[in-house]
Amino acid sequence: MIEKKILKIGRLQLLSRAEWCAEPPKEPYETHIPRGIIFHHSAIPGASDYHGWRTVKEIQRLHQQDRGFSDIGYHFLIGPDGIVFEGRPARVLGAHTKSANQGNLGICFIGDYRKQREVLTLSTLRAGLTLCYFLFQWFEIHPSSYRWHRQHNPDTECPGEQVMEWIPRFQEILLSLIGNDTEKELLK
Ligand SMILES: [Zn+2]
Repeated sequence: MIEKKILKIGRLQLLSRAEWCAEPPKEPYETHIPRGIIFHHSAIPGASDYHGWRTVKEIQRLHQQDRGFSDIGYHFLIGPDGIVFEGRPARVLGAHTKSANQGNLGICFIGDYRKQREVLTLSTLRAGLTLCYFLFQWFEIHPSSYRWHRQHNPDTECPGEQVMEWIPRFQEILLSLIGNDTEKELLK
């Protein structure tokens, strides 16, 4: 199975906050227990503006200075080159989806993934899928608890049609990997 091969060989290239020179949060974190994932895109900066960790630093600056958040709002960000950046630690409350931050990890695909804007790369998709698989292993976040931003807030186009089309496929692929026994255990 191709999907299995991707995950087997697909290592997660995860850059910690220290590695991208994150600023500290402005206020103490609040904790939460991650149970689901909400997907986003950055829209601005787009994939064409991406310059590795500098772009993640710029997103943190936008969130801390322009939007008045304590820290970068997302828990993970994925670059068009497939590098995954650690945002807020997974066990602290994010700031990515009004009214639905509690219990949800925010994953942001860096780029504008509305129709006919930028194209999701294979590296991005592979990193997203691998990250979801790790999040299942680390926190038992089941694919049935994936949502995207627009499902919680109809006023936003986030995360763009391209990401929206891929999430159900992520769910299918991961369910086939996790297998029925685990699924039954989780549903008990
Ligand atoms: Zn969003």
